[in-house]
Amino acid sequence: MAKKYCYLFTEGNAGMRELLGGKGANLAEMTNIGLPVPQGFTITTEACTQYYEDGRKINDEIMSEIMQYVETMEKINGKKFGDLKNPLLVSVRSGARASMPGMMDTILNLGLNDEVVAAMIAGNPDPKLERVVYDSDRRFIQTFPDVVMEVGKKYFERLIDKMKAEKGVKFDVDLTAADLKSLAEQFKAEYKKQLGEDFPSDPKVQLYEAIRAVFRSWDNPRANVYRRDNDIPYSWGTAVNVMPMVFGNLNNNSGTGVAFTRDPATGEKKLMGEFLVNAQGEDVVAGVRTPMPIAQMATQFPEAYADFEKVCEKLEKHYRDMQDMEFTVENGKLYMLQCRSGKRTAQAALKIACDLVDEGMRTPEEAVLMIEPRNLDTLLHPQFDAKALKAATPIGKGLGASPGAACGQIVFTADDAEKWKAAGKKVVLVRLETSPEDITGMKAAQGILTVRGGMTSHAAVVARGMGTCCVSGCGDIVMDEENKRFTLAGKTFHEGDVISIDGSTGNIYDGAIKTVDAKIEGEFNRIMGWADQFRKLSVRTNADTPRDAKKARELGAEGIGLCRTEHMFFDPERIAAFREMICADTKEQREAALDKIMPYQQGDFEALFEAMEGDPVTIRFLDPPLHEFVPTTEDEIELLAEAQGKSVDEIKGIIQGLHEANPMMGHRGCRLTVTYPEIAVMQTKAVIRAAITTKKNHPDWNIVPEIMIPLVGEVKELAFVKKIVVLTADKEIADAGIDLKYEVGTMIEIPRAALLADEIAREAEFFCFGTNDLTQMTFGFSRDDAGKFLPSYYDTKIFENDPFAKLDQAGVGKLMDMAVKMGRTVRPEMHIGICGEHGGDPTSVEFCHKIGLSYVSCSPFRVPIARLAAAQAAIRSKGE
Ligand code: PEP
Ligand code: MG
Repeated sequence: MAKKYCYLFTEGNAGMRELLGGKGANLAEMTNIGLPVPQGFTITTEACTQYYEDGRKINDEIMSEIMQYVETMEKINGKKFGDLKNPLLVSVRSGARASMPGMMDTILNLGLNDEVVAAMIAGNPDPKLERVVYDSDRRFIQTFPDVVMEVGKKYFERLIDKMKAEKGVKFDVDLTAADLKSLAEQFKAEYKKQLGEDFPSDPKVQLYEAIRAVFRSWDNPRANVYRRDNDIPYSWGTAVNVMPMVFGNLNNNSGTGVAFTRDPATGEKKLMGEFLVNAQGEDVVAGVRTPMPIAQMATQFPEAYADFEKVCEKLEKHYRDMQDMEFTVENGKLYMLQCRSGKRTAQAALKIACDLVDEGMRTPEEAVLMIEPRNLDTLLHPQFDAKALKAATPIGKGLGASPGAACGQIVFTADDAEKWKAAGKKVVLVRLETSPEDITGMKAAQGILTVRGGMTSHAAVVARGMGTCCVSGCGDIVMDEENKRFTLAGKTFHEGDVISIDGSTGNIYDGAIKTVDAKIEGEFNRIMGWADQFRKLSVRTNADTPRDAKKARELGAEGIGLCRTEHMFFDPERIAAFREMICADTKEQREAALDKIMPYQQGDFEALFEAMEGDPVTIRFLDPPLHEFVPTTEDEIELLAEAQGKSVDEIKGIIQGLHEANPMMGHRGCRLTVTYPEIAVMQTKAVIRAAITTKKNHPDWNIVPEIMIPLVGEVKELAFVKKIVVLTADKEIADAGIDLKYEVGTMIEIPRAALLADEIAREAEFFCFGTNDLTQMTFGFSRDDAGKFLPSYYDTKIFENDPFAKLDQAGVGKLMDMAVKMGRTVRPEMHIGICGEHGGDPTSVEFCHKIGLSYVSCSPFRVPIARLAAAQAAIRSKGE
């Protein structure tokens, strides 16, 4: 049977997201449950993927099906494309499986041309309608070139600005019918100038071009960035929704709005939203005019408002989740244009999930699945110190559009935000309003402050999605974008000046305000409690200092999965001794230097054991190439020469000798112990002595230090090092006359170790995947240099993600899966973890659950993310 590429809204349902996209599936579902939806149809995501397969063309088969559906839509609505009596005008909107707000394109009022415009006006002598028609026409002619033909919108905006200046008006609504008519003509002339052809007057041609444009917009740069950040596969494609227009810009008894059934910033259960009288949807989202709060709609449109309240209730009950809706009132009658699970802040997500459980709508398992693990990150960032905040006086106030605390230097463009961030600065991006092109700059900023726009403006929606603090719509700011300055509360702020913004209250402060660490409490704690009940994976942390270990413990870490001992050597007091060790000529000299280091290491290990209160602690022996520790400045070299009794030239010679062509594949990891066994001897003594002390201090704690050997590729290598460790440790334990168990395991970070994991497991008592090196060595990509060429890999779609951030399940993951299975054939009970960066990435955590790891280990601030991701993996795999 031939594939079906189009579905009427009456033919679909909410379960058809993959095919119809979120918007299409929900339009169908709203139709099914009897809500007022203008009846159109959805072109499937498969049509989009086919478009790309066919070399960015809509093939004849799909096009003819679309045209059949246009005819059906015409019949259902009693209107026709290009008809002079009953013209059909449509909106054409994107709608992917996962919502990507503002990332793709929308075209409104399609179907207008000179004849239709003339006929519509002639058919109704009301002068107000004349204005509406011209307004709709100029909107269409304005968006079409930008969206469909990729002519920059600046040409058209310039014409509007010129017209407004000539007429001395501030807003588009203040332009008269004649002004708008003249604008439409100017736009068409500009179109011809830019493209060398007339603006298409045949609605079918317009439709074809518009659908193509939406398909094409799936691949625009901002959509690609958004997808990478939100784990949305490129292969999904977008659906296209073709829907008859309803006119919110018909008269003052019409309007358009966006609303949420609960507050998307706090989660509070109350209808929230905005309404703009005499306007079309894009006006609200663009933030050009500041809309009225939805509650005000109740007085101005009592009937439509009452209907809308009922719709909200029905939708929330139906979807059992907070809904984000777009609607239009045409001449007092309500039409629903969209509904979806609303984007929300992490704070709101937690509250809504808990409330839905308390309201009996969701189970705790479902509540846990409702939270996007990555979004927890924002809750873990510092907040303003309550005292400092109280003492500070705000200089202005906007809307608290996305919570959080941001302090930083002011920048005025998205480009500058990126550049300044790259230079290590913290910035607050201040804009009149943001647009989708600003997305990478918004990501780079600590916070975003806009002059215009409401809670549903682009800045607000996107900032909430990214978890970035945002204050929107501070109309008191007098902006001078061109000269990179603004005035607020009588003071002029320039680029580089520091301000603080509070995304919860909307307050703006001059200068920096002190921040404090976040805590897990309230709903956050409740969700994490549920998550801990469901998950199978343990969550440990990568921590090298007692401070990090304590922080991780507060955030729920159940042990240390990786302590990189080399990080303990950088302290000024210690580095001197370490350098002496590196530059030593003889074993005796090296041992003397190591003796100086040992007490420090032992002290640090004791503090780590203390912080973990008897939970496992894995200590990884020295790993990086030695040249990373050598002095670089003349002063430091002189100091070292003096301490060593050597000349500066001799030291320089030694440093030169440590240089390697490929240090990541050079003299590092267990290879250091093979050449200098005394290093492992010192580290073993420090670990075992620290464990003995802790055990004496806390006889009830289960202290079993885990000694981890890095960069093993051959079992004999591991056996060699292990023998040194065991001889040293056993002697320490015997001398202390105490009973202490310990384990010697290995990292699996060289492909050969994964391939021969059964052999390695004969020596290794545990495995821990070092997926940073394993990714490096499997791809042959330098982990330090991949950033140089990965952007080209994204552009060319060879990669969708950074394999150093998101585990390559197909390749690196295959090695891991193999290694787990082979390792456990030899040692069925062995514990196996992961401690590369991927241990805190939600999709990678899910993979680790699937292949049966015992734990993931990640940096302290990602511990809650990993706990939640592990719970979600366990819940999702329950039925499998
Ligand atoms: C790894 O390689 O994944 C790892 C954890 O070790 P490091 O990053 O220290 O090389
Ligand atoms: Mg490594």
